[in-house]
Amino acid sequence: MEASLTARDRVGIQDFVLLDAHTSETAFLDNLRKRFHENLIYTYIGTLLVSVNPYRELDMYSKKQMDTYMGVNFFELPPHIYALADNVFRTMLSECNNHFILISGESGAGKTEASKKVLQFYAVSCPSTKVLNNVRDRLVLSNPVLEAFGNAKTLKNDNSSRFGKYMDIQFDHQGGAVGGHILSYLLEKSRVVHQNHGERNFHIFYQLVEGGEEDLLRWLGLERNCQNYNYLVQGNCTKVSSINDKNDWKTVRKALSVIDFSEGDTENLSVCSSSVFQLLGIPAQVLQQGLTHRKIEAKTEEVIYGTTVFSPFSVDHAVYARDALAKAIYGRTFNWLVNRINESLANKDSSRKTVIGLLDIYGFEVFNVNSFEQFCINYCNEKLQQLFIELTLKSEQEEYKLEGIEWEPVPYFNNKIICDLVEAKHKGIISLLDEECLRPGEATDLTFLEKMEEKIGGHPHFVTHKLADQKTRKTLERGDFRLLHYAGEVTYCVVGFLDKNNDLLYRNGKEVMRQSKNTIIRLCFPSTEPDSKRRPETVVTQFKSSLVGLTDILLSKEPWYVRCIKPNEAKQPGEVLIKNRFSIPIPVYNEIKIIICGTLKLFCSCRYKPLCPDTWPNWRGTAAEGVRCLIKYLGYRSDEYKMGRTKIFIRHPKTLFATEDAFQVC
Ligand code: ADP
Ligand code: MG
Repeated sequence: MEASLTARDRVGIQDFVLLDAHTSETAFLDNLRKRFHENLIYTYIGTLLVSVNPYRELDMYSKKQMDTYMGVNFFELPPHIYALADNVFRTMLSECNNHFILISGESGAGKTEASKKVLQFYAVSCPSTKVLNNVRDRLVLSNPVLEAFGNAKTLKNDNSSRFGKYMDIQFDHQGGAVGGHILSYLLEKSRVVHQNHGERNFHIFYQLVEGGEEDLLRWLGLERNCQNYNYLVQGNCTKVSSINDKNDWKTVRKALSVIDFSEGDTENLSVCSSSVFQLLGIPAQVLQQGLTHRKIEAKTEEVIYGTTVFSPFSVDHAVYARDALAKAIYGRTFNWLVNRINESLANKDSSRKTVIGLLDIYGFEVFNVNSFEQFCINYCNEKLQQLFIELTLKSEQEEYKLEGIEWEPVPYFNNKIICDLVEAKHKGIISLLDEECLRPGEATDLTFLEKMEEKIGGHPHFVTHKLADQKTRKTLERGDFRLLHYAGEVTYCVVGFLDKNNDLLYRNGKEVMRQSKNTIIRLCFPSTEPDSKRRPETVVTQFKSSLVGLTDILLSKEPWYVRCIKPNEAKQPGEVLIKNRFSIPIPVYNEIKIIICGTLKLFCSCRYKPLCPDTWPNWRGTAAEGVRCLIKYLGYRSDEYKMGRTKIFIRHPKTLFATEDAFQVC
């Protein structure tokens, strides 16, 4: 007893639900800290997995470890991402339904690594045949490709995902991985033309310049020196110690060849990512004209029909047009890339499949200066938090209510109020921003700010310089607005919001791109694309609809959660300053996080009735009485279970396992 207490003191407890003081946040963090010191980065809260980023390679992801976790009961081994992956997989097979794993946490907390670990686990644990191995390799190798084009070094994370990713892995009846599909969300295109200090452009640029083969570089007219390229040096940090661009280039090329990309595709892609405009396959003169002039449609009757007038841009305008074009090329090429990967992952067989979805989205982000991009990213995190609340706390508590179980309500912050602040029709921030975007020439970033002050000024989660009390005012500039997100305060600088939301590409630019000899560029700027007079949807509105789509996808599946936590801000191993910095609501601070073990009928009259002489061989009373009789005989303590109307809730799975073991023996 003594010894086990000491061990427990030292390494903490592996399932937070079992901690006596499990309603306290301090106790929760203490427990995580203890475990982290022992390199135990994983902890459960019931079936939710908490993971603390170790910032160092731990010897826990070997093939041997995978084998250990395959087919073993969830709570029988120390917590691990493999245990979760395995449990999801087996539940999917036995229940023949669809699941998803929501991986959340702030930027740099380990989400992308966790999603890769899950994928690797399936790659090793699933049945293997030649055909299946082919699919498996493509699934796994889609990662380095998408990371090269969609990830970049930021101040928070050297390999920060700058797009959201949802990946379905499709399984056949035997559990063979037979296909996959990826949905990508809002790539941070602005990075192509601008990087903040200490940050980089997307990895692929540096990989190409550092690792590109001599012939390829010569053909592209590129020099092996990132310093020569204005788009690559704005963050003044082309080299990152944790990144080997040269090797990564090799990995990406190899991956591209496995995922069905031809040599020609790869070269075309290189062109798109090199942003060297002569190489776009467009006559220099046409491109120059396209970038420096605006085409004016003949509107008045005096102008002879068919006449086009070109009016020259100012220098600022031309720079703007160039950047807009570069962003459009990159963004559209990225979408093309995702589509190509999807074609290669597509499963043509129409037989019934079940899926496990992996959601790895850019995490909550706060920099010294936060702009439109952070606004979108943090809005997305609010939405996911809302989904999480809906799916866990609320549904759990509703179930207790339905079952007539007494429970102590979990105090949690419902962030719906913030989601509404951002997305409510007519008076949400998104609507106000879109409204301003509809008044070109009149509206500015500042009028947008004023509009917000006017319409939502009284909202408890919104403040600006003008609205703030004296003390807060000191921390805000005039062009700032601050949102009190569920995960903390973020101050956004309003400059650039209108432009970035409009994301206008001059029609001229599009027309020029259509003349490209590069096949990918031509595909990305199809001539069938209507030059509609109607304004295209704004960026944030498109993003909002895509998040609604994502929520629908997720709501149709069974949820599992991984919460990633960053131990410190320095991206360093060992140092543990774990704070529940963004007040990540730890679900189930509840006395009864209870495994729903099934209906009373199943519990008593079917499965476990042989365990008690009174219920065996036949129980003639009600199911509830039978269960009471059974658990009394089994000696359950009163704090170990609660009886509902139709279900029995058991506090810890170990209790159930003991019963199950007894059953197996008998
Ligand atoms: P996020 O996707 O949450 O922004 P990442 O998954 O990219 O964060 O993790 C950031 C960095 O932290 C990784 O590049 C890696 O160096 C380190 N890291 C994260 N998870 C682990 C892990 N389980 N083991 C070792 N290092 C990790
Ligand atoms: Mg990531």
